[in-house]
Amino acid sequence: MIRTTCIYCGCGCQANLIKDEVEDRVIGVEPVPHHPVSLGKLCIKGWKMHEFIHHPDRLKRPLMRASIDDPFEEVSWDEALTHAADRLMGIHRDHGPGALGFLSSAKCTNEENYAMQKLARAVFHTNNIDHCARLCHASTVTGLVRSFGSGAMTNSINEIEDSDCILITGSNTTEQHPIIGGKVFDAKQKGAKLIVVDCRTIQLANWADHHLIQRPGTDVAWLNSFMHVIIDEGLQDSEFIESKTTGYQSMRDVIMQERYSPEETEAITGIPAEDLRAAARDFARAGSASVIYSMGITQHTTGVDNVCSIANLQLLTGNIGRPCTGVNPLRGQNNVQGACDLGALANVYPGYQSVEDGSVRERFAQAWGIDHEQMDPEVGLTVVEMMNAAHDGTLKGFYIMGENPMMSDPNIDHVRVGLKKLDFLLVQDIFMTPTAELAHVVLPAASFAEKDGSFTNTERRVQLIQPAIVPLGNSRIDYRIIGEIAHRCGYDGLTYNSAEEIAEEISRLTPIYGGIIHSRLKTGWGLSWPCPDRNHPGTDYLYDGGMFQKKPQGRAVFHPINFQEPAEVPDTEYPLVLTTGRILFHFHTRTMTGRSPTLEREYPHPFVEIHPSDFSEVSGIPEENIKLDQFHHLEVSATTRRGSIILRAYITKSIKRGTVFIPFHFVEAPANRLTNDVLDPVAKIPEYKACAVRIELKEGTSP
Ligand code: SF4
Repeated sequence: MIRTTCIYCGCGCQANLIKDEVEDRVIGVEPVPHHPVSLGKLCIKGWKMHEFIHHPDRLKRPLMRASIDDPFEEVSWDEALTHAADRLMGIHRDHGPGALGFLSSAKCTNEENYAMQKLARAVFHTNNIDHCARLCHASTVTGLVRSFGSGAMTNSINEIEDSDCILITGSNTTEQHPIIGGKVFDAKQKGAKLIVVDCRTIQLANWADHHLIQRPGTDVAWLNSFMHVIIDEGLQDSEFIESKTTGYQSMRDVIMQERYSPEETEAITGIPAEDLRAAARDFARAGSASVIYSMGITQHTTGVDNVCSIANLQLLTGNIGRPCTGVNPLRGQNNVQGACDLGALANVYPGYQSVEDGSVRERFAQAWGIDHEQMDPEVGLTVVEMMNAAHDGTLKGFYIMGENPMMSDPNIDHVRVGLKKLDFLLVQDIFMTPTAELAHVVLPAASFAEKDGSFTNTERRVQLIQPAIVPLGNSRIDYRIIGEIAHRCGYDGLTYNSAEEIAEEISRLTPIYGGIIHSRLKTGWGLSWPCPDRNHPGTDYLYDGGMFQKKPQGRAVFHPINFQEPAEVPDTEYPLVLTTGRILFHFHTRTMTGRSPTLEREYPHPFVEIHPSDFSEVSGIPEENIKLDQFHHLEVSATTRRGSIILRAYITKSIKRGTVFIPFHFVEAPANRLTNDVLDPVAKIPEYKACAVRIELKEGTSP
């Protein structure tokens, strides 16, 4: 048995891979008893994480073609790598560094993300490097850095179950982070108050003391109203505000406007004033109160505003810098935290060190053995900006590792046009994806069960993965592929013998990972950053005692924030609000879970959740004749200003009337054909969670 870390959500559960030694196959999974997060449990995805490893669809040989209209041909590694390096160098030479883009991966290891950003910066001299955190938690990183100084979950997972009050918003926790959902149940059993703010009656809402059902995209309004009640009733923590923060008065001036009284915001949010008052009182009176959120908060044009508003709430009530409190963004993918930490972002080197800081550039240039004048001094293009640049013809070459923007980016018809315009698209993955189908060269990568490295979970815990089998077929480990390309470009600073060697380099250049080396990870249950040196035990919760070391005078900052509507609101042509998300049995773009027979069996087809009143209006069927909590036999179309998809309707009162929900996993009906690619102006995250949509019966059908 080989101990590893789950490759799905950010909980970071550990499991043993069970192997058939004779066949050299992974044949099963079992949980690891005593693991501090999973405690010997796994969710259904974790139990089945081995099922896709040996799937016959695995890419096993490099593929190449001259143009995307030609069929792929199998080629040798040498031919594929040499061609890829030549094309990337050619674009660099002819059009400059800014004509190249690099997409790293939240599914790859820390060491691979480090290698990918190093390739972009050291070999191709560009900061056009990003990954899907831009699409899920960029607003968390930006917002929490502004408020507290660091952009990560402030407290640890296990503290949740001892909180006196938990506020969950924009997170269907039991589906997306099941083990953390279990901790919330445990807290409730111990007597915690539970507040859920969600436009759907998610599972935890059934256990909540308060379920506030808001109109999507109105989070700043209800959060301001929540704080309005707390200040109005004198429930704020004045001592904490006085001694640990700045900017309170200007935030208070905004919050106490009459427009944020519960009665006034009810018209905006749809939350009854008295319900909001009762929840705010329970929250403020709790000895320790924790906020848990996820992409329902972050994926808005006001994503940074939403995050800063949550930070305001926790500063107002003194719920930061103590156990069982904090601002706790749940990261969706297994290593989205690590990919951010290791600099797969357009604006920072590993450890969130700014690309605009000359001394930082000089330090990395020296360590990487290149002239610091060659280091790009400007913030690079983000994911959506790179897609737009491809569309405009200014981005000519794109290297995508382990990402599938043809499913995961907003407005994917626009993405397709952009990718097809590229002079050269290089994709590295374990399966043929809709993105790889548009590539000139496809390189087969090894899966998690075939490589070494580490992942960082949502609570900043860095843990190892270990190889159980050799890479399948002719596939190779991602960091070795990157090293081979760099070598063919004349740079040998990316040739490593092991992930452990990369981790040593990371620890020398990344202060928050200063004490995180593989030999330490092998013996325990991982280390949570900040871990500045090799004797440091790691850090469970940040800002102990209200010390915000990275902020001026060590004080956290309140931000005055006013409510703004989403970029697109319903009208007569598109009368409903579309929100998107995940379901328990599938992960991200379903590349892996769609090839897991057990998981695929549960939800094999796409669907839209719709309230029976809305479905009645759409179909003309009287509401009393519509059966609840099941799929209707009639298919529907969902149409926005960007496109249309056909899918089944799931009729349920667990979604707010006027809102529909579509999971984004399904290639047959990709929700991201519909979503809006308008961005938060600061974090550049798209507004996946609210756009205007029209639902109709599929053409040619009648009730
Ligand atoms: Fe894996 Fe997340 Fe399930 Fe744990 S909760 S087993 S990390 S998918």
